[in-house]
Amino acid sequence: MPDTLKITDIPVDGYERVVRGVDPQSGLHAYIAVHDTTLGPALGGLRMWPYASEDEALFDVKRLARGMTFKSAVAQTGLGGGKAVIVGDPAKVKSEALYLAMGRLVDALGGKYITAEDVNTSVHDLEIVRRATRWVSGLERKDGGSGNPSPYTAYGVFLGVRAALGQVFGSDSPKGRTVVIQGVGAVGSALARRLIEAGATVYAADKNEARLQQLAGEIGLKPIGEAAALTMKCDVFAPCALGAVIHDQTIPGFQTPIIAGAANNLLLEPRHGKALAERGILYAPDYVINAGGIINVSVEFAPGGYNEALSLSKIERIPQALRELWTIAKEERIPPSDAADRLAQRIVADAKGAKKEASCAVPKRGSGGGGG
Ligand code: NAD
Repeated sequence: MPDTLKITDIPVDGYERVVRGVDPQSGLHAYIAVHDTTLGPALGGLRMWPYASEDEALFDVKRLARGMTFKSAVAQTGLGGGKAVIVGDPAKVKSEALYLAMGRLVDALGGKYITAEDVNTSVHDLEIVRRATRWVSGLERKDGGSGNPSPYTAYGVFLGVRAALGQVFGSDSPKGRTVVIQGVGAVGSALARRLIEAGATVYAADKNEARLQQLAGEIGLKPIGEAAALTMKCDVFAPCALGAVIHDQTIPGFQTPIIAGAANNLLLEPRHGKALAERGILYAPDYVINAGGIINVSVEFAPGGYNEALSLSKIERIPQALRELWTIAKEERIPPSDAADRLAQRIVADAKGAKKEASCAVPKRGSGGGGG
């Protein structure tokens, strides 16, 4: 049967490649954005979402791909930034044919983009994608992958929370501290467990009341309401549910000296980083503190393949990265979120410059110089 997948390039300033893939046979309507591969192949998850328009899907895939470049740069994963989105309602469009077509779309980029799990994409879906392309990461350990990234993300966030406690209180021990976690899903629940084991009192809110009650029984967290999570007096507020929880309406209500959580894109707008700093709240930039998952995936590409000890040692650098950002922020009187963006941009620009220099230094064939 002829392949009906049609791939179209969409020129976008500042992005190495953006493509649209449409396959009438399987119903695939997807976009891949390769933001920057200076530091390595662009790795980022595959999201499925019922976007209302092409513009909305493109906006999201570009924003997320750029975010991955920044995250990987600061975490030193040796990877670049990219992302993919499939337009559609997961309850209606998911099929084997659709993920096979997605695999062919990923394959057409020849390894410039490597896909992974994301919202509404499971490891099972990725296994289907893998049948059409080798450029898939985050599969089960038994299939040569690095497995579920969430425990590694949670470990990094836990270490980041400790670093923030050290910064604010002079001791990084969670013992006797009060932490409010918004969202106790895969990452939030693992974070809660670690914090409780380390002696903190953890209050948590979740839309899923049954899960909250179950965790209360299992690990001893204290359930609170959704609204209370944003205003309760505590030592750390750890948002681990959705992005964009830090904005004009929520900032005045926070009663915490620290915001450090796993969710991506926590600031609704960049200016909200400044507003937090003005309120004296220490912020752990989201893509720095939540990099444990991508660090773990990146170790799949290490010589010799995945190695958990190497992954943990790299995740254990997150506190130092945060401390450096807080120092830069203080010295340059900018919010830590801006310090993170600047650092990421500088790392990529330096690598671009180094590559350019290296390519200029290589003598061209026949350009003389030899033999005399
Ligand atoms: P998840 O879906 O397993 O958990 C999210 C939880 O938040 C769910 O239990 C949900 O019921 C709850 N929730 C949703 N809206 C809420 C609200 N308004 N108030 C309280 N609870 C609410 O997701 P996850 O994998 O644990 O990821 C959590 C966040 O961290 C996401 O924003 C994700 O993008 C980000 N993140 C995750 C990873 C990872 O490795 N899983 C890596 C980096 C960033």
